[in-house]
Amino acid sequence: MSVLVVGSIALDSVATPFGETADAPGGSAVFFAAAGCLLHPVQVVGVIGSDYPLGVLKQLEARGVDLAGVEQVQGESFRWKAKYSYDLASRETLDTRLGVFAHFRPKIPDKFKQARYVFLGNIDPGLQLGVLDQVTHPALTACDTMNYWINSKRELLLELLRHIDLLMVNDTEARELSSDWNIYRAAHWILERGPKRVIIKQGEHGALLVDAKSTFKVPAYPLQEVFDPTGAGDAFAGGFMAYIASVNDHSDAVLRRAMVYGAALGSFAVEAFGIQGLDKVTPADIRARVRAFKDLVHFDLD
Ligand code: AMP
Repeated sequence: MSVLVVGSIALDSVATPFGETADAPGGSAVFFAAAGCLLHPVQVVGVIGSDYPLGVLKQLEARGVDLAGVEQVQGESFRWKAKYSYDLASRETLDTRLGVFAHFRPKIPDKFKQARYVFLGNIDPGLQLGVLDQVTHPALTACDTMNYWINSKRELLLELLRHIDLLMVNDTEARELSSDWNIYRAAHWILERGPKRVIIKQGEHGALLVDAKSTFKVPAYPLQEVFDPTGAGDAFAGGFMAYIASVNDHSDAVLRRAMVYGAALGSFAVEAFGIQGLDKVTPADIRARVRAFKDLVHFDLD
């Protein structure tokens, strides 16, 4: 029961108060795959330029990531540069160089077309719709987006919402999309436009899973050291979708548990720069962190 991700494969240069990286492997598909493969095999569709360090992708391959959908073309890889504020709560994008990503037209290899669980990383909503046309019978389709598309391709994004099961965005994006500052009203605004469920990521405050009848909240793991928040959302998505694929069930109870797996994988991702935080995570580490979440929110009624 495979999980497919389509998204960016990037070289990130990130500065936080604790250090910086230059041209470190990242991008939504890479963070998703590095987290997801710890729970279930992941299939990746994306594009890289002639300068991308293939060793990193080979390491992912050795961990159960199928790269048959990664196309290497002549030219520069997608590069993204950002700087975080002192409290890591906000960041400024300093540079985005699309390179070969500018001409990315996702082509799903035949062997990926039957993927049951599909995640559309943050790319042009027109391309996200194009991916949906290529997958034959997904059980659950989820997608991410960002302020850039909310502002520049709003109509296409609203069309996409009519065709997906779950939208996963952060709180700022939910507010921008709905033009409503209240996060719960914003979630219901989104639900009225198509998806049966919406996940709203709230950074260090955790994440919400909202459907028409209920709201579920997972906190963020109380880490005492956070080095680099980049990719936390994509690692969350990877953990969430891969857990669902691993049990091949997307009932309400499983989705709630998947939120905890997502939060656990997101927390590993931010403990080091780039994808390094996910490099050495073991199944026992994941189990321990999931259990810690249970303790974190457990209480007895009086
Ligand atoms: P997140 O921290 O979850 O927002 O994801 C950060 C990742 O998104 C970085 O690894 C970037 O390479 C990637 N990224 C940044 N801007 C874009 C964009 N315009 N399109 C696709 N991916 C992007």
